[in-house]
Amino acid sequence: MPSPYDFAVIGSGPGGYVAAIKAAQLGLRVAVIEKMATFGGTCLNIGCIPSKALLYTSEMFDQAGHKFEGFGIKVGTPKLDLKAMMAHKAAVVEANTSGVAFLFKKNKIETFIGTGSIAAPGKIKVTAADGASQIVEARTIVIATGSESMPLKGVEIDEARVVTSTGALALAQVPARLIVVGAGVIGLELGSVWRRLGSEVTVIEFLDRILPGMDGEIARQTQRLLTRQGIQFRLSSKVASVDKKGKALKVAVEPAGGGTAETLEADVVLVAIGRRAFTDGLGLEAVGIARDERGRVAVDNHFRTNVPGIHAIGDAIRGPMLAHKAEDEGVAVAEIAAGQAGHVNYGVIPAVVYTAPEIASVGQTEEELKQAGIEYRAGKFPFSANGRARAMGEKDGFVKILADAATDRVLGGHIIGPFAGELIQEISVLMEFSGAAEDLARISHAHPSLSESVREAAFAAWSKPIHI
Ligand SMILES: Cc1cc2nc3c(=O)[nH]c(=O)nc-3n(C[C@H](O)[C@H](O)[C@H](O)COP(=O)(O)OP(=O)(O)OC[C@H]3O[C@@H](n4cnc5c(N)ncnc54)[C@H](O)[C@@H]3O)c2cc1C
Repeated sequence: MPSPYDFAVIGSGPGGYVAAIKAAQLGLRVAVIEKMATFGGTCLNIGCIPSKALLYTSEMFDQAGHKFEGFGIKVGTPKLDLKAMMAHKAAVVEANTSGVAFLFKKNKIETFIGTGSIAAPGKIKVTAADGASQIVEARTIVIATGSESMPLKGVEIDEARVVTSTGALALAQVPARLIVVGAGVIGLELGSVWRRLGSEVTVIEFLDRILPGMDGEIARQTQRLLTRQGIQFRLSSKVASVDKKGKALKVAVEPAGGGTAETLEADVVLVAIGRRAFTDGLGLEAVGIARDERGRVAVDNHFRTNVPGIHAIGDAIRGPMLAHKAEDEGVAVAEIAAGQAGHVNYGVIPAVVYTAPEIASVGQTEEELKQAGIEYRAGKFPFSANGRARAMGEKDGFVKILADAATDRVLGGHIIGPFAGELIQEISVLMEFSGAAEDLARISHAHPSLSESVREAAFAAWSKPIHI
């Protein structure tokens, strides 16, 4: 029997593989159990990485068709080679997943391919695809089994015409009409990909706003900009059924509060109404591992379940379903297993939507601060007043910094604009060090750079912006 290990992780997504590498670096003997043929989980195989490959290439296609001419570059009407675009995506995924396999070898982590279920504290049963099973023993077990798409009642997924994000990342043709159910991050990102490649895209959202949880002003601006790009929105509406009988899908859409249904036609329907923790087949009940009110594995502040020696991290537990949050928890749980003090600061976890322009957010929103009764000052600066953004033809969007009215400490940062996903990082660093808007405003920023807009927003929150 190839055991006992100090540390065994079930699942090799960003939570699991990072936990395994960190634990090995700290001198623990580590095993990883993964049921898929490749490592990297949802994120590397069917999530973050393939979606960002398609978002980038479809954006280039869109720019070649609509933006280049204004820069004096005449390329004619660009032609889409979807097969080649998908091949690029597949190559990027392969490079990333095999990179994880390389890191496992480098760190002497042993891997078991099969479905892991917890037979007893300290014992994982691994069942391979051919039914053969073995027991892996470990002092610490970490559940990092991730999440799956949330089903929509009355709508059957076939991953060809009625798809989750997995099918939407692999369509063989550009659908003439795409209906996206859900105006969250995944719906808007994949809706953007197919709109740029030629689909007529309609987004149907139950709530009266898009991007629930994000700063309201940023969400309203996003909706305006995406509408300008041609995406249609139907808010306060719900999809009641999808009839697949004919050549076109017939989608019944009702007002959220109930009322007369209207039928829309589509070639593909993407169901993107959220994700839920995936714990099927783990045998949680048999060993008595408790779940929380939303079916996730319940953990304390040290990622401990109620059963000694069994921990859980990532999408399988509470908190934002983000790859870097899972990674941070992976590092922390490994440190804890090695006797160190692992910790995650949930107050400073950035979130990015990779639409064009990008949207990025860290810390509290205006709505949250108002709700908490915290007095704050909001400093804003538009990219239309930034020299570098103008040079790039990127005039839409703004940076908003929210600072405590009494102490000037930065409590939140929200950006819609070019490279927002990169720019947000300096606000995260500032917040991690409890910095003030004045601190950020007094730091020299290279000119001309997009980051000057972040500095100007900090100036605006602390005193006054210079360039507007
Ligand atoms: C389309 C899409 C785009 C996304 N884009 C982003 C993004 O840009 N940025 C971002 O931060 N997040 C993004 N996410 C979310 C991100 O993918 C998840 O937050 C992240 O993957 C969670 O990591 P994890 O390690 O908890 O779980 P996962 O990545 O889901 O990995 C879980 C792993 O466990 C394995 N597993 C499950 N059960 C068992 C078992 N019993 N035995 C063995 N193995 C098992 C699974 O096969 C899987 O490999 C995106 C998600 C989707 C779907």
